Amino acid sequence: MLPVIALVGRPNVGKSTLFNVLTRSRDALVADLPGLTRDRIYGYGKVGPIPYLVVDTGGLVAEAEGIEQLMAKQTLKAIEEADRVLFILDSREGCTPSDQFVAQTLRRLGKDVVVVVNKAEGVESATAGADFHQLGLGEPLAISAAHGNGIKGLIDRALEGFTVAHGAGAVEDTGIRVAVIGRPNVGKSTLINRLIGEDRLIAFDQPGTTRDAVFVPFERDGQQYTLIDTAGVRRRSRVEEAIEKFSIVKTLQAVDDAHVVIGVIDAHDTVAEQDASLFGLVAERGRALMIAVNKWDGIPSDKRNEIRTGLDLRLPFLDFAPVHFISALHGTGVGELMRDVKKVYAAAMRDLATPDLTRVLEAAMQQHQPPLIRGRRIKLRYAHQGGRNPPIIVIHGNQVEHVPDAYRRYLANAYRKHFHLEGTPVRIEFRSDA
Ligand code: GDP
Ligand code: GDP
Repeated sequence: MLPVIALVGRPNVGKSTLFNVLTRSRDALVADLPGLTRDRIYGYGKVGPIPYLVVDTGGLVAEAEGIEQLMAKQTLKAIEEADRVLFILDSREGCTPSDQFVAQTLRRLGKDVVVVVNKAEGVESATAGADFHQLGLGEPLAISAAHGNGIKGLIDRALEGFTVAHGAGAVEDTGIRVAVIGRPNVGKSTLINRLIGEDRLIAFDQPGTTRDAVFVPFERDGQQYTLIDTAGVRRRSRVEEAIEKFSIVKTLQAVDDAHVVIGVIDAHDTVAEQDASLFGLVAERGRALMIAVNKWDGIPSDKRNEIRTGLDLRLPFLDFAPVHFISALHGTGVGELMRDVKKVYAAAMRDLATPDLTRVLEAAMQQHQPPLIRGRRIKLRYAHQGGRNPPIIVIHGNQVEHVPDAYRRYLANAYRKHFHLEGTPVRIEFRSDA
């Protein structure tokens, strides 16, 4: 799975600046998931050859109380889930008591730490790092997040021991990879349980079996699937545990590994901001997405229309994702859901012929021309496919850097319609011929 890098350090040392640098690549995206996460921020990134997930922990402070204590708890969870911790320090301030406190915590957790001395522009590395050997966490690495100095070296160090094989697409090909995601208690485990069957689950639950054995193969109607378990599906005695176990890091790792993501919401709840952000991340990551509105069995028929329309209003950016109303508990609608998973997968993986791609481009331009830029019209000449899952359509032309977002969306929709690309995001990339 995608390696996870956590940024840790006291406030103001440059964590968010570094976060932005590490996630700036094309794949980068930022999720602020209010409520569940406080100020933790998640992003996909790729500076060198290996993709990764970055978590900005928002900061560890000594003597935390109340909300801060809660934040500290979330931060500790992020650190626990991380493969590498980047401990960020401020070269100008030197080693402070707060830094000592953070170092103590990190030593106690026994994590793999890289000591990063930030704001070191114009300073010799050795000089910048001198004060930080005393932390006892290894050789300090000097960088400047604001100026982009030392970032390549930092990432090499942070991902030491990882290979591309740890990242996206590294999973063995065993059919359609499906991730079931959503907030705690929406019914993820119940759905997974229904898909893979009780026996499997119990086997899964034996003490001694790897807790992180997250890839579960199963077959349904002659189709092979691999389920990526984010819910830590095991028998749970108490409801609180669902919340304890919920992990955005694991969710985002699973999304990265999946072909198709099933986003589950509880029909009784109003769609929360978390859902919107979480599913928005899936779309931005380019994964095919379906929405399962679960516990439909508990909704009286005179309420159902109201819920259907309410959903449309709240998730407008998900216009490409099919919505299914299901009961994971009784199995209602699960068959159709899985049939649609197959369809959506096929759409995400479809091969699009170059002549067709160019023809659709020409027809779309005829209907609606690209705008003029300082008196010169943007010219789009031809298109070819640049990737699958999601379908990437590469369009060549002139002045392509000026194509407005609205026109890009217009083209994406034209392609979606023509090729019936339901359930998958469609990415348009422009290349300049000039
Ligand atoms: P955070 O609280 O740890 O997330 O820190 P921020 O990323 O918000 O940065 C705190 C301040 O340090 C901001 O004013 C940044 O512009 C500044 N800063 C961050 N990185 C650098 C750097 O490499 N050099 C300098 N000179 N300033 C930086
Ligand atoms: P998770 O935290 O998302 O994995 O949620 P669970 O699968 O543990 O489900 C949370 C609760 O909702 C449990 O008490 C389930 O029995 C219940 N539940 C799940 N699916 C359904 C459903 O389709 N209908 C009803 N009525 N209850 C459900």
